[in-house]
Amino acid sequence: MNPIIAANWKMNMNINEGLSLVNNILDSSPSKKSQVIFFPPSITLNAISDRLKNTRYEVGVQNIHHEESGAFTGEISAQMIKSLDVQYAIIGHSERRQFFHETDYQINKKIHNALSANLFPILCIGETLEERESGETSKVLKKQLSSALKDVDSDVKGLIVAYEPVWAIGTGITANSNQVNEAHGFINETTSKLLENPVPILYGGSANADNAAELFQIKNVDGFLIGGASLKSESFCQIIKNIT
Ligand code: PEP
Repeated sequence: MNPIIAANWKMNMNINEGLSLVNNILDSSPSKKSQVIFFPPSITLNAISDRLKNTRYEVGVQNIHHEESGAFTGEISAQMIKSLDVQYAIIGHSERRQFFHETDYQINKKIHNALSANLFPILCIGETLEERESGETSKVLKKQLSSALKDVDSDVKGLIVAYEPVWAIGTGITANSNQVNEAHGFINETTSKLLENPVPILYGGSANADNAAELFQIKNVDGFLIGGASLKSESFCQIIKNIT
């Protein structure tokens, strides 16, 4: 399996900045082997998707609403996103759980909506520092996985999971090799029990050009979900080069 590298731009990059970033990445053509997916803000998704047409790069949305349509001012549904020629949706990012109070119930509905719109979900799960320190990491990961995947067909295709310890996101602190090995092993074991097809597992949490190659050696690490280090073409291209 080729490494999957997902770039979560969060609420950064206006249209000119976003286009200039992807143009620089296209120019430096860092690897032919990785599967690279950009997640721009929704407002620039169409323009970035157009720019990347007929290239090897793909695009996804950072969030979808959990209902299919209706009176939800300011929200965007999976079906609308799909009409833009977008293939992926990040679902359950910890910033959405934390700042927008997303619940397991909503995350499960988003997974179902994404799949029925033929969007591949990247389901984010991860423990807080408090949960890790009280020895609850596996319990938390198991609960997040089983509630998000409730009633999902066991032969689902295209699902990706991102292990993102909350304490490592945007903090500059990366989970160490043992922690990543243990969490990815546990997620792999849990998804193999629930689902028939293999589920790629990405690591997210302050991944950068200095640590990606080492983390990528760990069993069950199939790629990365990258925030901060995806906002500059040099650091992002370097990560791609370092792991392929
Ligand atoms: C993220 O937002 O998913 C993420 C991993 O961010 P960062 O790389 O900045 O920690």
